[in-house]
Amino acid sequence: MSKQLITGLHHVTAMAGSPQQNVDFYAGILGLRLVKKTVNFDAPDVYHLYYGDETGLPGSIMTFFPFRNIRPGTAGLGQAAVTTFSIPKGSVDYWVKRFVQFGVKHESPQLRFDETVVRFEDMDGLGLELVANDRDERAPFTYGNIPLEHAIRGFYSIELWESAYERTESLLANQLGHQFVAESGTRRRYSTGAQGKPGQVIDIVWDSQKPYGFGGSGTVHHIAFDTPSDEGQLAVREKLLSAGFHATPVLDRQYFHSIYFREPGGVLFEVATTPPGFLYDESREHLGESLKLPPWEEHRRDYIEKLLEPITLNPEKYASPS
Ligand code: ZN
Repeated sequence: MSKQLITGLHHVTAMAGSPQQNVDFYAGILGLRLVKKTVNFDAPDVYHLYYGDETGLPGSIMTFFPFRNIRPGTAGLGQAAVTTFSIPKGSVDYWVKRFVQFGVKHESPQLRFDETVVRFEDMDGLGLELVANDRDERAPFTYGNIPLEHAIRGFYSIELWESAYERTESLLANQLGHQFVAESGTRRRYSTGAQGKPGQVIDIVWDSQKPYGFGGSGTVHHIAFDTPSDEGQLAVREKLLSAGFHATPVLDRQYFHSIYFREPGGVLFEVATTPPGFLYDESREHLGESLKLPPWEEHRRDYIEKLLEPITLNPEKYASPS
């Protein structure tokens, strides 16, 4: 068998409103670690905040562009409308209580492919879920006030909303190394491994009647797949170009190298390299502590720092009764 070029999910990037509310939700309530505080490389007056596991491994990284004055977006076709995190099987009650405690909008737990799913939203209305399962082999990690046995392990899956599944399925299977795993109603599940392990799963939920979404706060900007090496990335890029997709040249995103292209259903896809990762410019203990700028912006650090509103981590505000 040839080596896998795509090994699962790398990151999800979404748009948000207030940066402080964003930090409070993802680091405070969800207990993800703020692993990098930088700026949008294309618009350095806006933060780019990265949350993840202890070192921000691929498959755990949720990132945001928090724009103060952005209009709210609407979920719909052509979007990665739901981002799903993996939690241990016995942790549903813990999380539902936590959502009640902190006023997080959520729904009653439901079953999907024999696993319990809890749907919830962040403060900007971004569609999120937890899936409780005993199939996640990633090392447990905890940050802030979440007990280790209940902590989020990383992504479980991403849900794409499409008018039809066929063309996106073909891309996933033929250019991005996914296999069909299961289906239920209008949900079709794909994975980079045969088992559909947490962190490797893409669900297409298709509905030709649903309206198209539009971007804004509370919507995903793009999703990224993980590829272990620069050579693998170039190989994927060649496959995409041969199949007629307009993949960008490789862009240096400091913590990974990226190519972007639009999938047939309208969602922006990225393929990002595992290296160099978030330890590139900060030690494990100090990840996310200082504002990191790309080298070409360093000369105007003072100016950029004045444009950005200060943000603070407040783990003590988000303690849960045990
Ligand atoms: Zn990205």
